[in-house]
Amino acid sequence: MRIGVLALQGAVREHIVSIEACGMEAVAIKKIEELADVDGLILPGGESTAMRRLMDKYDFLPALKDFAASGKPMFGTCAGMILLAKHLVGYEESHIGAIDMTVERNAFGRQRESFEVPLMITGIEEPYVGVFIRAPYVESVGGEVEVLAKHEDRIVMVRQGQFLAASFHPELTDDHRITAYFIDMVKQAKK
Ligand code: GLN
Repeated sequence: MRIGVLALQGAVREHIVSIEACGMEAVAIKKIEELADVDGLILPGGESTAMRRLMDKYDFLPALKDFAASGKPMFGTCAGMILLAKHLVGYEESHIGAIDMTVERNAFGRQRESFEVPLMITGIEEPYVGVFIRAPYVESVGGEVEVLAKHEDRIVMVRQGQFLAASFHPELTDDHRITAYFIDMVKQAKK
């Protein structure tokens, strides 16, 4: 089993370290063909507009939509959450559009550009410290979407079937429980 990390832009190396710390093989995905070699894919944090520009340049978007349709799990963190959302506040168009949710970018305001906060997450026993950096939040979700965590009444982590998304950056801490949670999803999907 292998987990890919989309390596167009953003916190790629940190996710690879976290996947390997969980005892799993990680692959940085730089070319469309490499998507065929992995059983699950992480879309990292970074800048969603920059990622989208590179996706368009290398024609990645159709391949990512196919990956989503194939039933293989995907996990988006921060900018990656934005890529997975079906609707974005203030934008006509979404990107991969796999999760039935409306996401607002940079939604925690300027004075709180980055912060850390303990979160209670469904399926994870003890509180988990979320690192938020110019983070998006989920404004609303469709009926199939399970809300896994909130911060001050704002939804910051969701799951819809094989898709997982978080507003924060689990790869920027050495607490690998969320990466392990995603790896479990990939194992289940493979069965
Ligand atoms: N604000 C960024 C965006 O809109 C996301 C920030 C992040 O990934 N840390 O893509």
